[in-house]
Amino acid sequence: MEHQDFEDIGIIHGSPSSDNLKAFQTEYHAPIWSGEKRSGALPITQRRSSMFRCLLRAGNSAGIMYFLIVLSLLFTSAFFYFGPAIYDADELHFRRMYGLFMVFNIVMNYILIIVKAKDSVYTQKSTSALCGLPDQSWRFCAACSHDVPPRSHHCTLCNGCILKQDHHCFFTGVCIGFYNQRYFTMFCFYASVGTGYSLAVMVEYVHTVHFNLTGSNVTQLILPVVAVKTFMGSATWSYLGIVVLINLAFGTCLMTCYFWTWQLLMIYRGQTTYEFHRGNITFKNKPMANFRSVFGSFWFLNILAPMVCFQNRGNGIDWGEYKYV
Ligand SMILES: [Zn+2]
Ligand SMILES: [Zn+2]
Repeated sequence: MEHQDFEDIGIIHGSPSSDNLKAFQTEYHAPIWSGEKRSGALPITQRRSSMFRCLLRAGNSAGIMYFLIVLSLLFTSAFFYFGPAIYDADELHFRRMYGLFMVFNIVMNYILIIVKAKDSVYTQKSTSALCGLPDQSWRFCAACSHDVPPRSHHCTLCNGCILKQDHHCFFTGVCIGFYNQRYFTMFCFYASVGTGYSLAVMVEYVHTVHFNLTGSNVTQLILPVVAVKTFMGSATWSYLGIVVLINLAFGTCLMTCYFWTWQLLMIYRGQTTYEFHRGNITFKNKPMANFRSVFGSFWFLNILAPMVCFQNRGNGIDWGEYKYV
């Protein structure tokens, strides 16, 4: 944002109109200036926060693209290229059924993470139907200009306070909060199983078609080793492409497995990632109650498919004895 932008909204020259000031305050969450003349440059903290927001938005788009491209690439190559080359028709049919089940769960959970993210954004309307709220455990959010429930936190990218905010997920572009944590957890589980399966198929393909992967031959799967060999002319570019896919599958499988186990741990403890890093464990409940709060009744059925019919226990607003520290 340059000097010109200030002039455009009438802040620098003369007395600013109330509409102009409101527009400025709404966009940058800055305090309203009292009419004195300011120097032309944008305050450095606002310039930095504006740049930081641009970087976050770029990260958001890159994360979504990365995940969608990598998952589609791994699944299509495992099921339509590597699989047919090493399995007979009967086995291939069975494996494709299994793959369809995984892809269904990955896609449905991914869509529901994004769709249900809107429900986790706190609005004052959310409270109007509830009695006895708010109380002293609520905080004032300067960006939203109203009181927000305990365990909710403001996200500049999602532009609101997120109920029981866990973290902002750059792979889906939305915050993980009270209403979509269940879908995020199951998405990570199936993405981990799916990429692990693709990895196994590709390694078996290399073992069957290229090298007997025993002893020192295992190094034929390590990307830097194969890249050097390719540039020196002792490995083909197509084999390098296979090794790139294998390494992508390995990295994505590890990452999603980590996210999944972390979410299970947080749900078990009745804590969010945000609270874990700040050490404010003041909300205690039994582990099974925590799982029902996230996944609803019959929470274990979510392993089969996203159970949209079983609502989360609670409302994400009233946390009883919880106190924000
Ligand atoms: Zn807020
Ligand atoms: Zn967010």
